[in-house]
Amino acid sequence: MNTLLDLPENDQNDFTEDHTPNAFSALGLDPRLVEVLDELGYETPSPIQAESIPSLIGGRDLLGQAATGTGKTAAFALPMLQRLTETDRGDERRPFGVVLAPTRELAMQVGEAIGRYGSKLGTRVLTVYGGAPIGPQLGTLKRGVDVVVATPGRAIDLMNRGALSLDALEVVVLDEADEMLDMGFAEDIETILQATPAERQAVLFSATMPRRIETLAREYLRGPVTVRIAREESPAGEAPRVRQTAYMVPRTHTTTALGRILELERPTAAIVFCRTRADVDAVTETLTGRGLRAEALHGGMDQEHRTRVVERLRNGRTDLLVATDVAARGLDIEQLSHVVNHDVPKSPEAYVHRIGRVGRAGREGVAITLVPSGAIRHLRNIERLIGKSVPIAPVPTVADLHAARLERTRVQLREQLVADLRTDADAETDGVLAMVESLGDEFDPMDIAAAAVRLARTGTTSADDEIDIPTLNAPREGRGGPRDRAGDRGDRGGFREGGRPGGRGQGPRPPKEGATRLFVSAGRAAGVRPQDIVGALANESRLSGRDIGAIQIHERHSLVEIPEHAADDVLRSLRGVTTLKGRRANVRLDRAIN
Ligand code: AMP
Repeated sequence: MNTLLDLPENDQNDFTEDHTPNAFSALGLDPRLVEVLDELGYETPSPIQAESIPSLIGGRDLLGQAATGTGKTAAFALPMLQRLTETDRGDERRPFGVVLAPTRELAMQVGEAIGRYGSKLGTRVLTVYGGAPIGPQLGTLKRGVDVVVATPGRAIDLMNRGALSLDALEVVVLDEADEMLDMGFAEDIETILQATPAERQAVLFSATMPRRIETLAREYLRGPVTVRIAREESPAGEAPRVRQTAYMVPRTHTTTALGRILELERPTAAIVFCRTRADVDAVTETLTGRGLRAEALHGGMDQEHRTRVVERLRNGRTDLLVATDVAARGLDIEQLSHVVNHDVPKSPEAYVHRIGRVGRAGREGVAITLVPSGAIRHLRNIERLIGKSVPIAPVPTVADLHAARLERTRVQLREQLVADLRTDADAETDGVLAMVESLGDEFDPMDIAAAAVRLARTGTTSADDEIDIPTLNAPREGRGGPRDRAGDRGDRGGFREGGRPGGRGQGPRPPKEGATRLFVSAGRAAGVRPQDIVGALANESRLSGRDIGAIQIHERHSLVEIPEHAADDVLRSLRGVTTLKGRRANVRLDRAIN
């Protein structure tokens, strides 16, 4: 038997670390907040943050005119958290801060942002909105919270039940106040403001400043600083308000890299531009294979079909339209948030035209561009035309993907838990609770929960996702053009393949002749060793140990070579699953080579 154990390589990319101090510390924020911002990649305060944060930390009231996408959430959340660190709350359970937001979506977004910013301070954040079960909210409020983010109606409801007290409140924020008034919350807002102590700090953000907002501000804010972030007017030739990012990847990895970037970015309405019709099909297939909702749009489709696909993007039934320039000509989709370039367009004007589709009507747009080896000069031409450099970001690593998936699982579990609380009876009649309780006699509840999550995730990754994409560093910019961050750390001539120390470069090696490779969805993390794989295959199929070739154990999956002629038979007898270390694992042909 020629079993070969392939030890894992170091997953680290060789990005130069940036040691410049984060500009947020100069605004007077606690190092723990700055640390989180660093991790989130916030390097410089946005204009509204630079203007608001120092005054708010100083305790002033504030009236701000700013739309979504300007960074206004952090502008009020960070000072609130800063002031919280400076306050001795003892075992105070009543909230320190309340944020009112017009919709459930915005409330959730703001609540999540505050939770994230305050994660190193242990801030207790509760988000409440109408329609959600009130029971758990009552419980959480009773145990104590630091910040409550609420829609006005639900806040009033909780106040009326005596569950939400604003007596100890230090900060109240009205987010998107104009929207709240438009939705008929004027009276509720006034009731809430009247229930707050006279000495509290009040912050009011609104995208527009109609007379009603001015009146509200005059009544409830005391000597506020006013901050107004005007919408940027875009210079000729440049698309407005678009966050532009480029990723450098070896050409053979572009589609895989794109899948990872989109999995992390999760756009809700994007056009992914490809050069050819064949690319459109291949990219659509890869993206849908990752569970993203993508549909192709190209000239080969009849008009009716094309209209249908575009309509599906418009009404949110699909998230990604994969298209050629020609097919996307004339498309104007109001809610488009992202433009993605699977290849850098050769013509800089085409780039500007493509990204001009986002960042409209005061919304933030995002443009993502993959720059394959050899195409850096196209990016430089674009930078010359738009007059600024496009920042280069690292392609998400395997660790980034795992972290993002864990976070998604956490969110889904939370939603399920909240939903289950609402339908207590179901859990009892379907027997799940009883089954879990029976395990509880033997195991710790935390271990049971963790095992359930691992089991649910079994088989959801592909072999591609376990290999870091080699890093490319951009060459230094020559004379006369803008420089970028990657350019400053790159080599002189052409692309350099960086990647992992000792990396083997372009993904997995092919199996030896006459052999094929199976993908098994369990690896080192599950304690799997080569002999376990041999045992499982030899037990459950007609293969003998001698037939089994090289085995590679990775963190969450394993690859095993078997004779090509035996593959069908093995897969048939296993029916796609085997048991390894007492757990089910999926077995299939390795897609990376088949
Ligand atoms: P908002 O206007 O609060 O909805 O924020 C818009 C987006 O910008 C959010 O995705 C924030 O995470 C992000 N953001 C806010 N401030 C910064 C910053 N200083 N640097 C980078 N991203 C930021």
